[in-house]
Amino acid sequence: MENKLLEQVADIHRRAFTVDAHFDLTYEVANRRERGWEKVIETNYLEQFKGGSIDLIVSAIFINDFFLPEMGLRKALDQISYLLEEKDESPGQFRICHTTAEAYAARTAGETALFLSLEGADPLQNDIRLLRIFYELGVRGLGLVWSRRNYAGDGAFFAKTREGRKGGLTPFGVELIEKAESLGMFVDVSHLNDEGFWDVIDIASKPIIASHSNCRALAGTMRNLSDEQIRAIAQNGGVIGMNSINQFIREDESDVTVSHFIDHVDHIVRIGGVEHVGLGFDLCDSFINFLQIERPLETYDVIKSHAGLGEFTACLITRGYTEDEIIGILGGNFMRVFGEIID
Ligand SMILES: [Zn+2]
Repeated sequence: MENKLLEQVADIHRRAFTVDAHFDLTYEVANRRERGWEKVIETNYLEQFKGGSIDLIVSAIFINDFFLPEMGLRKALDQISYLLEEKDESPGQFRICHTTAEAYAARTAGETALFLSLEGADPLQNDIRLLRIFYELGVRGLGLVWSRRNYAGDGAFFAKTREGRKGGLTPFGVELIEKAESLGMFVDVSHLNDEGFWDVIDIASKPIIASHSNCRALAGTMRNLSDEQIRAIAQNGGVIGMNSINQFIREDESDVTVSHFIDHVDHIVRIGGVEHVGLGFDLCDSFINFLQIERPLETYDVIKSHAGLGEFTACLITRGYTEDEIIGILGGNFMRVFGEIID
C-alpha cells in the first residue's frame, strides 16, 4: 500500500469508532479454556483488535448441534462464565458493555468493548423468561436462529439441503421479538430463513440488524440477503454487517479477494444506502482450525484477522467512498442502531 493511502487509512481508523458486529469470540474462549488455555483474549486477540483499531466486538454465544437441546443452556452459561474469568485475568484490557455509552467509555480508557449476543435462541428452548436472565447477564443481542430449526423458527441452510416444507416464525419467535424489544436487546436476522425474515419485518417495531450476511445477488447462498430483503432492512432503519467468509462473497470460493468483498458493500449501498452497511466479519479460521485439529488447515476468511481491517478500508477509499461514509461503514451505522435499541 502506498504511503499516502496508508496515512489516510490510519487517519480514518483514528476518527472512526469501529464495530465488528459478529465474532464467535465467546465460543472460542470457552472451547480453548475447556482445554486448559488461559488469557485467550489477551494472548490471541487483543493485539489484532488493536492492530485493526477495533473498538467494539459483538461476541456471539454459539452452541454446537451436538449439545442441543439438553446442554444448550448450560453451554451458554458456561461461555459467559469463561468470559468473566478472562476479564478477571486481564484487568484493564477489555470490558463487557451494556450500553453504547459504556462502549465509548471503554475506548476512552484504552480497552476493547464487548457486547454479548446469542447466535440462536436455542439455549432458551421455549422458556421466554430465560431471555430476561440473559439480559441480566449482559446479553444485548438476540439472533433468533442459527442455520437449523429451533423453538423460534427455521434457519437458512448454507447449501442446498433436503428438507421438508419450511415455516416462518413460531408464536414463541414472535414473543421473543416483542420481549427483546421491550428489554432493550437488538434482534439479528442473520441465519434466519426467508419466511422468518419477512415475519420479523412485519413484527419488529424497532430497527433490526443482519449482523453477518452478504448479498444473494452476488453469491447465491440462502445465508445471504436478497435485494428485497436489503431494501426492507434499509427501510426499517437497520444495518447489515458484511461477512468476510469466502463462500458468502463468491460462489467460486477458490479465488476471493478483498475487492470481491467490497462489491457486496457497493451492492448494498446501491440498493439500500450507505447508512445501512457495517462490518460483521465472522472471522472463523482460528476457531475452526483449533477445533478440527485432525483435519488439514482450512481457510474461509478473506480478511485474515482484525488487524487486516486496513486492507478493507483502503479498498473503500479507492472505490471513492468519502471519509464520513467509511466511518459510518466501520461502525457509525451500527452504533446508531445500537444506541436506538439498547440504551
Ligand atoms: Zn453465524
